[in-house]
Amino acid sequence: MKNDNPSLNTPFRIYPALLLWILTGLIGIAFVVWWILQQAVTAFHIEHTKKETLLLAETIAIEIQRVLQDHASATEVWETKHLFTLYEEMGKPLGVVWIQVYDDQGRLLFGLDPNQIGRMYSELEGEPFPALQQAQVQLERLPPSHFLAQRGIRDVLEVYLPLPPRFRPAAWIEVYLDAEPLLARIRHLRQQLLGAFLALGLGLGALTWFFTRRADAIITAQQQTLQKTLEKLKRLEAHRRMMTSSLAHDIKNHLAAVQGTLEWFSQHLPEETDQDLLENGSRALIQATMMLDNLVAISRLEEEDLPVNLQPLPVVDFFSRLEAWAKPILSMKKASLEIEEPPSSLQVLADAHLLFRVGQNLIYNAIKHTPPETRIRLTARDAGSQGVAIQVQDSGPGISPEDLPRIFDKFYKGAHSHGSGLGLAFCRLAVEAMGGRITVQSQPGQGTTFTIWLPRSQSSSPGGGTKPSPEVG
Ligand code: ADP
Repeated sequence: MKNDNPSLNTPFRIYPALLLWILTGLIGIAFVVWWILQQAVTAFHIEHTKKETLLLAETIAIEIQRVLQDHASATEVWETKHLFTLYEEMGKPLGVVWIQVYDDQGRLLFGLDPNQIGRMYSELEGEPFPALQQAQVQLERLPPSHFLAQRGIRDVLEVYLPLPPRFRPAAWIEVYLDAEPLLARIRHLRQQLLGAFLALGLGLGALTWFFTRRADAIITAQQQTLQKTLEKLKRLEAHRRMMTSSLAHDIKNHLAAVQGTLEWFSQHLPEETDQDLLENGSRALIQATMMLDNLVAISRLEEEDLPVNLQPLPVVDFFSRLEAWAKPILSMKKASLEIEEPPSSLQVLADAHLLFRVGQNLIYNAIKHTPPETRIRLTARDAGSQGVAIQVQDSGPGISPEDLPRIFDKFYKGAHSHGSGLGLAFCRLAVEAMGGRITVQSQPGQGTTFTIWLPRSQSSSPGGGTKPSPEVG
């Protein structure tokens, strides 16, 4: 028996591939989660800093308000250096490195450089005064040319704060915070997160490794059991086939012996003996032999175990062999066989023995499933691109439309059949094994035509007429 299941021939290993896939997936998921978490940590720190800076800014604004009430001009305010001290005290824990306070018009009220007090934002920054509604915080990397960068500060948190009207004239504050302590904290947290994820990944990896190995071991064990069962089944199947074919062979020998005896009786019994009885016996023997042949052939064809020897075969030879075989059977039911002799050049590519058995089944069916005196016609024609079409036509009762789609199925037989339902199943398998196909046309009351389509042999030349042969019967 052919084994079409490669997975049992080649042991299937899930372990390395599955482990690789699971680990790749875990690493991907861990990376995404880590990235989201570290973004959240950064955002959290910035938000925290924003709140603290806002408090600082409000305190500075109140102080500016108070000082402005006590002094005549802004310049005077800064000369007191009062606010510098304030800024030193309050801003240090936050890492404030630069503060500017503007009024509504964008005029500088307070800055670390007293020379710039009273100048407009647009003059200082070269841009229009921004219309800020809400506090904005952004992490900035200063260019090396920036004067703070020259003091060793590279990363700043740049905070823009609009102040509520009660702080007027101070309306707007710009603060730079040294971002290094914040970045150091974030870096530290990221490292901790990474460590935690690595540990988690290693743990999950180890678990995956353990479970895939277990699964692999279980599957391998089951595979081995299956393999053993399969081999046992193969042995049993081979044994069954051998038994069946030797049994069929023995039964056929016995049937042949009985057939010989019947023939001897038909020749030696007196004339007045009832010949019908002998013919019935003979017909039953032929049917039993064909059933046995079909049964064995079908199982071997299904398992692709029957050698198919394709060779150029003149259709005329096929017909004359069938004609010789059919002669005694036809006489039993007074049926007639008409053969349209094909041109000798018409050849098919076929296995002579298999094709002969297909012909036997079709002719036997045409006799068996029809009333006495049925006319059977055997024709062949060149069907161009479709190869050669060989037809077996009878003038019987035809096949009902309900039966027609199923007659080639194994064990399917019509309501009135005493057969096995194997004949046409064998015909289909055999013709297909030779690279052809078989079709049927039938209508109740109008006879039945089976057509065998086979490849034309290369040595066969298309064309040529047909001439009818004498009726046999
Ligand atoms: P079986 O002849 O053993 O019943 P087959 O497989 O040879 O099985 O045929 C299947 C069925 O097809 C038959 O039972 C019969 O009903 C129908 N059949 C086959 N050939 C003919 C025919 N020439 N005329 C009418 N019916 C047929």
